[in-house]
Amino acid sequence: MLDFSREYQLRREEILAALELVADSQKFILGPEVEQFEAAAAAALQVKHAIGCASGTDALWLALAAAGVGPGDEVITTPFSFFASTSAILRAGAIPVFADIDPVTFNLSPAAAEAVITPRTKAILPVHLYGQPVDWDHFQQIADRHKLLLIEDAAQAWGARWKQIPAGSLGASAAFSFYPTKNLAAMGDAGMVTTNDDTVADHARALRTHGMRQRYFHDEIGWNARLDSFQAAVLNVRLKYVTAGNEERAQIAENYLHLFQQAGLIGAITLPEMLTNAHSAWHQYVIRAPRRNDLRTHLTAHQIGTEIYYPLPIHLQPSLSHLGYMAGTFPHSEQAAHEVLALPIFPGLRMDEQELVVQRIAEFYF
Ligand SMILES: *Cc1c(COP(=O)(O)O)cnc(C)c1O
Repeated sequence: MLDFSREYQLRREEILAALELVADSQKFILGPEVEQFEAAAAAALQVKHAIGCASGTDALWLALAAAGVGPGDEVITTPFSFFASTSAILRAGAIPVFADIDPVTFNLSPAAAEAVITPRTKAILPVHLYGQPVDWDHFQQIADRHKLLLIEDAAQAWGARWKQIPAGSLGASAAFSFYPTKNLAAMGDAGMVTTNDDTVADHARALRTHGMRQRYFHDEIGWNARLDSFQAAVLNVRLKYVTAGNEERAQIAENYLHLFQQAGLIGAITLPEMLTNAHSAWHQYVIRAPRRNDLRTHLTAHQIGTEIYYPLPIHLQPSLSHLGYMAGTFPHSEQAAHEVLALPIFPGLRMDEQELVVQRIAEFYF
C-alpha cells in the first residue's frame, strides 16, 4: 500500500544532515528550523501566515479556536472523514453538526451543509478528502449569504488547488497534518495552521504555547501544541520535493485510469472523479467496488495492500452516540463506507506494480 522506504533511501543523507544540525544546535522547541519551515510553507501555499504545531489534530483545534469558534457555536462538517475533523470541534467546545456528502466526490455537499444551518451556526469545516478540494465557490456563496466562517481541513490536501488557488489559503483558517503517510510527511507527528488574517495568526501562535504572548503571562488557556525542530528539519528537506511527488501521484492516477479502461473494468468499479475546478493532490486513489471486502481479501492474498478510508462514518462512532445520530441519517456517507477501497498510490510506485494491481482486480471481477 505504501512504501516510504523508497523515498527515504533517496533523501537519507540530506535528512540525516538536517537532523544532525538540530542536535548540534540544542534548539529543540520552536527553533530556527521551525521558523524557516513556516516561512517556506507560507510561500509555497501563497498564504500570509503558517504556524507549525504538534499534529494535524492540534492544527484543526487551533484553526477553529483561533478563528473564534467556541462554546455554544455549531460547526457543520462531514461525517465521512478521519475522526479528528469532528473531535477537534468538540475540543474547541463547539457542537459538530453533520451533513451528508456528495456521492461523486465523497466531499461534504454544499447544499446539504446549507440545509442544516441554524442561528447558532458559526462555521463550516469542509474536508478536502483524498486530496480533492471541495466545491469552494459554492461554499463561499453559502458562507457569504449566512455570514459564516469557512475553515479547511486540508490534512490530505497539500498541493491541491481550487481554480489555481492553493488549498489552505482559501478559508478563514486551515489545518494541515504532516503525519508520516501524508503527501508532505514528517518523521513523527506534526501539523500546521494557515491563515491570511493577522489576528487569527497571532491568536493561533498564542494558543499553541499555553496562551502566552509574554513569557509566563497567560492571556488565555491554550495548550502545548508546539512543533519541534527535528520534525521541522525533516519537513524543510521534504518541502523541496513535495511538488514533484504530487506530480508523480497525478501520473499514477492517470495510469490507473488507462489501465482500468484497457482492462474493461469501467462499469465494474467506479473510478475517482474530479470537479472541473479541482486540482487534486491525489493523497489517495479511491475506487468504489462492489463486494468490496471480498475484493480486498483477494488483493491481500496476492500481497497487494489496500485500505478503507473510512469503514464507519463519524456520526455512527460509539464515542459520539451522545450527539444522537442514527444509522440511515446520511445514506451517501454510509454507502461510501461500505464501498470505498484505496489502492496503492505513492511516489516511487512503479508501472509494473500498478499493472499487477489492475490485473488482480480484473481477475476478481471476470
Ligand atoms: C490525518 C488527518 C487528520 C489528523 O492529523 P494528525 O496529524 O494525525 O493529527 C485530520 N483530518 C484528516 C482529514 C486527516 O486525514
